[in-house]
Amino acid sequence: MINVPVGTKDILPSERPAWDYLCNIIHETFKAYGFGEIRTPVFEATELFSRGVGDTTDVVEKQMYTFEDKGGRSLTLRPEGTAGVVRSYIENGMASLPQPVKIFYDMPIYRYEKKQKGRYREFTQCGVELFGSSSATADVEVIAMVNTIFARLGISDIQLVINSIGCSHCRPAYNAMLKDYFKSNEDKICETCKGRLDRNPLRILDCKNPDCHSLADNCPKITDHLCPECAEHFEQVKAGLDALGIKYVVDPFVVRGLDYYSKTVFEFISTGIGSQGAVCAGGRYDGLVEILGGPHTPAVGFAMGIERMLLHMESCGLLDKICAPKPKLYIAAMGQQAVLEAERIAYALRTKGVYVETDIMSRSFKAQFKYADKIGAEYTLALGDNEIATGKANLKRMADGQAEETDLSTIVDKF
Ligand code: ATP
Ligand code: MG
Repeated sequence: MINVPVGTKDILPSERPAWDYLCNIIHETFKAYGFGEIRTPVFEATELFSRGVGDTTDVVEKQMYTFEDKGGRSLTLRPEGTAGVVRSYIENGMASLPQPVKIFYDMPIYRYEKKQKGRYREFTQCGVELFGSSSATADVEVIAMVNTIFARLGISDIQLVINSIGCSHCRPAYNAMLKDYFKSNEDKICETCKGRLDRNPLRILDCKNPDCHSLADNCPKITDHLCPECAEHFEQVKAGLDALGIKYVVDPFVVRGLDYYSKTVFEFISTGIGSQGAVCAGGRYDGLVEILGGPHTPAVGFAMGIERMLLHMESCGLLDKICAPKPKLYIAAMGQQAVLEAERIAYALRTKGVYVETDIMSRSFKAQFKYADKIGAEYTLALGDNEIATGKANLKRMADGQAEETDLSTIVDKF
C-alpha cells in the first residue's frame, strides 16, 4: 500500500462540488473586475524565486521543492504565484499592452512545511496581479474584490488587516531603527531572528516565537516612519476603503513573508479555523517587475488560500447545502429492447447536456427505483416490454409522485 505524500491530499469527487462552488464565485468576481486568467508552468527556474521572492525569506530558505532536471537545470515547484506571473508579463511583452494589465490565476502551490490543519505541502491559491497602476485606487479595488467574493459567499466574519511597509526611500532608515532596537535586546530574540537582524530585520516582526513577538510590541512602528509619499498613499487607501464601507484594522506588525512588497500590505484573517487563520494575503509590489528584468511597473495583488477558505466556510455551515449534482432523470429499464431504448434516450438527453442515469448494473426494477431514490433523481421513467410495444411510458416526478404518460418519441424534447 502506497500512501499519498505527507502534506498532500486527494480532493475526492464528493468534496469537489464545494471547490467548484467556491472557485466559480471567485472566478466570476475576478472577471467582473476585468481580470483574465493565466496558466503558468508548475515549475520555474529556481532563480526566479530566489531573486523574486527573496533569498532571506522562509519560503526560499526552507520551503522550496528544488530539483535538478536531466539537463542539469535547477528547477523549483512554484512556492507562490506572483513571480511566475511577473516573469510571463515581462517575457510576453505585456508591458506594451494598454495598462492596467489585470491577470488572475488558480493554481497549485508547493511548500515544504510542517503539516498542520490548514497548512499543506500542496495547496491551491486563487490570486490576482494588477500591473501598471501606482494609484491607491488600484489597491482599494483589489481589496474590494476580496470583499465582493466574501459578500457573494455570505461570509461576514473575516477581518481585514492592513499596513504600509514603506518603499525603497523610507524602509532602509526604518530597517536601521529596527536593527538598533533588536540589537540592544539581542539576547531575547530567537536564533532565526538573530540571523535576520543584519539581513532582514523587518522579518522579526513576523516571527511566531513568543519572545520575539512580545519584544516587538515596543519597537518603532513603520507607520510612524513612512516617507510623505507612502504616508499619503496609505491615507488614500484608507479613505478609499472607508468610502466603500469596507472595515479594516491597521496593524503595523503585518509585514508579509515575501520580500517583494512595498507600501500597502494586507491580510484577511478568520478567527474560526485555528492558528492558520490567514485566508488571503497580498499587497503592492512596485519593485518586482524591475527586479525580474522588466521595465519599472507598479503592481498590486493578492493570493487566497482555497483550502483555508473551505475550512472557514465549513466552520460557519456555509457548505451544508452544497452537494453533488443530482440526475434530472433516471430511466429504469427491464428487458433487452427497453434497455436499448433507455440508452437511446439517455444518449440524446446527455448530448443536450442533461444529467441522466440509467441502469448498467442489471438490477431488478425494484432495486433500480431504490437506487434512483438514493441518488436523488428528479424524475423517473419506467421502461418494460409493454412501454416498448405502446411507445408510451410514465414520467414520474419524484418529489410529489405526480405521473404523466409520455410519448417515447418526444420525451427528449421535455427536458
Ligand atoms: P502563513 O502565515 O499562514 O504561513 P503566508 O504568509 O505564508 O501564510 P502567503 O504566502 O501570503 O501565506 O499565501 C497566501 C495564502 O495562501 C495564505 O493567506 C493562506 O491562506 C494560503 N497558504 C499559505 N501557505 C499555505 C499552506 N502551507 N497550506 C495551505 N494554505 C496556505
Ligand atoms: Mg507561510
